[in-house]
Amino acid sequence: MAKAASTSKATTGLNPSTAQRYHYDIYAILEGTQEMYFGEEVAVNVNLVEKVKVPRSVPTEQSAQGFEEIDKCYISPTKRRGVERRTLIWAPLASGMLLGDHEQCGIPLTCSRQDCPICCVYGGLQPKDDISLVGRLTHGGGVAIQPLLPDVKQRAMHPSVLTREKEGTPMPTPMPYRREYNEPALLYPIYNHCLSITEQEFESVAYAFLNALGRIGAGNPKGVRIAEGALLEDNEPLLVVDRYLAPLGARPTISPQETNPNIALQRFREAAFFVFGEKQNSEVVDQGTAFTRWIGNKALQQLQQHCLDFTQRVLM
Ligand SMILES: [Zn+2]
Repeated sequence: MAKAASTSKATTGLNPSTAQRYHYDIYAILEGTQEMYFGEEVAVNVNLVEKVKVPRSVPTEQSAQGFEEIDKCYISPTKRRGVERRTLIWAPLASGMLLGDHEQCGIPLTCSRQDCPICCVYGGLQPKDDISLVGRLTHGGGVAIQPLLPDVKQRAMHPSVLTREKEGTPMPTPMPYRREYNEPALLYPIYNHCLSITEQEFESVAYAFLNALGRIGAGNPKGVRIAEGALLEDNEPLLVVDRYLAPLGARPTISPQETNPNIALQRFREAAFFVFGEKQNSEVVDQGTAFTRWIGNKALQQLQQHCLDFTQRVLM
């Protein structure tokens, strides 16, 4: 069992690999399928969702370039990363065990082994043995496109409080609480970037990404879907997957300043089909080892294939 950093002579701390390593990127636009709560902090009796301030240039009467500040809802990349990692920890094996129990890898106590299908990409830290394994997967994006502020709703007591009352524990007077929710149909451009990982390691990333979609959020309800729009055909998933050494493709990222979903979709589509200075007409752009891009349905199929490979190799 290889220990991270300690036994490897490589200056990076990674064990040598005979398989080709690549950089991988996932670009997607996610859509809230209902109200969503992803807590930030609790103000006076209100659970708040995470928001960000976005400075935006606007033409004013005095000059062509003035600034205004707008608030936007946000699925923070670190929270999304946490949901993905948990998805792997809770992945069921054929034996009935969970992958995290099988690898003895959890949160916050990660195993930090390079052969762990979770830590190999997400990284880990064992402070007691002074072992750290660098994470090679980073998360970005998450600022909603529409500048729609969260709605506040009142909720009843949590059911667990009622159970405690039954057992005879002294209880404070039940107090309903209020909670903010991101509105449904908000669009969130998000990005996952992998640095120098093998195709096999990317299987963990694909499994976590697809399985986490329905579980993003805290409490209930939760979940997002990959938004759909016109790419080569109508109603395709707004998704791009790159595998590369040379970043030849335009990056389908959306400026946090953008507030118009139609313009955002147009930018996403233009960048997705723009590779090495040329407009493409295919959903697979193959420049060999240097750069391969999958777009829309082809990108989803690519992630699903890796997800299936992970399930067969690690879980079954
Ligand atoms: Zn681990």
